[in-house]
Amino acid sequence: TSIFAGVALAPRDPILGLNEAYNADARATKVNLGVGVYFDENGKIPLLSAVKVAEKARLEAMPPRGYQAIEGNAQYNQAVQKLLLGADSELLAAGRVVTAQALGGTGALKIGADFLKGLKADAKVYISDPSWENHRALFEAAGFVVENYPYYDAETRGVNFAAMKAFLLGLAPGSVIVLHACCHNPTGADMSDAQWAEVVEVCRERALVPFLDMAYQGFAEGIEPDAVAVRLFSASGLQFFVSSSFSKSFSLYGERVGALSIITADKDESARVLSQLKRVIRTNYSNPPIHGGAVVAAVLSSPELRQMWEDELGGMRVRIRAMREGLVSALKSKGVAQDFSFVTAQRGMFSYTGLSAAQVEVLRADYGIYAVSTGRICLAALNQNNLAYVADAIAEVVK
Ligand code: PMP
Repeated sequence: TSIFAGVALAPRDPILGLNEAYNADARATKVNLGVGVYFDENGKIPLLSAVKVAEKARLEAMPPRGYQAIEGNAQYNQAVQKLLLGADSELLAAGRVVTAQALGGTGALKIGADFLKGLKADAKVYISDPSWENHRALFEAAGFVVENYPYYDAETRGVNFAAMKAFLLGLAPGSVIVLHACCHNPTGADMSDAQWAEVVEVCRERALVPFLDMAYQGFAEGIEPDAVAVRLFSASGLQFFVSSSFSKSFSLYGERVGALSIITADKDESARVLSQLKRVIRTNYSNPPIHGGAVVAAVLSSPELRQMWEDELGGMRVRIRAMREGLVSALKSKGVAQDFSFVTAQRGMFSYTGLSAAQVEVLRADYGIYAVSTGRICLAALNQNNLAYVADAIAEVVK
């Protein structure tokens, strides 16, 4: 018999499954609000001009394709550190930051989880309720027990901060707490700056291990304001982890460009942490691919290209916000009684609409509009061509 005879069929990824169903749908009016990707006004994944310029220069130079260092491109890693911590960060000057280029934000979480497992084998990992589904899967795959902390409040459509704080205060020292640094996926509900400051103090008081996941820097208010959680942790003197990604902010999804940064107590610790992190990377994929990181490094280290990128990122942010406002006002003008104004308060690419699984199913079956069964929709998939159609359909299903 085959050695694979006993292999069970794994369940399909719910969101990728949605894509397959969308692709197979023959209706011309179909809309895919499921996947977490930014589409432009024409419904296309943009290739940013800054990326185009940097990429062209790189291809013209025809660089050799040797192995990178295990921790990746040094220029790239430094650029990541400055975006996260600020160009004049004291932590950088003190050598307290270890950064490794990683295969997207997912790869950063993976090497961070593996490194943590070697460090704190018995710790439990806590993720927000709800969270990006891969958080649980990634930390479980690294061998951790993963549980939820209270986060989203369906009543207020915001963060149930009192419940979250009380829960964190009850955790065992050394527990790992995964936090969405901005633009919470899937709810779009973020903590206020004051609440973040309280979370930092709870982490200090309970000796928790903060793991910040920053997949959407620049999509809420801008590069600097979106870094507030990271900056508060860096001012605290605590040690913490940050996984970050350029998948969305550079529209480089398939190039897999992310990074893991670890903030240590001092320079000597940094050297030891990096040496162990390199072992983790070596046994996972040896060293990261070259192209995406080199392009991002080229953009971020050229003042002109950086400005071009910030303008384009700003354009994405503004367009998403316009779609939020457009959806809310279209629903209102269609006479929908329910107040949907919360959609404009949510941040990032997503909205937790409050639509039930049954309503989401009607949207799919009757209108060819695909959303996640939890009611999460991606605002960046809306544009002037499909907005009225989507608003009409939602108005019908909530009647
Ligand atoms: N964390 C969160 C919260 C995300 O939403 C995503 C992207 N969906 C990631 C991490 C990872 O992104 P990537 O691996 O594509 O860079």
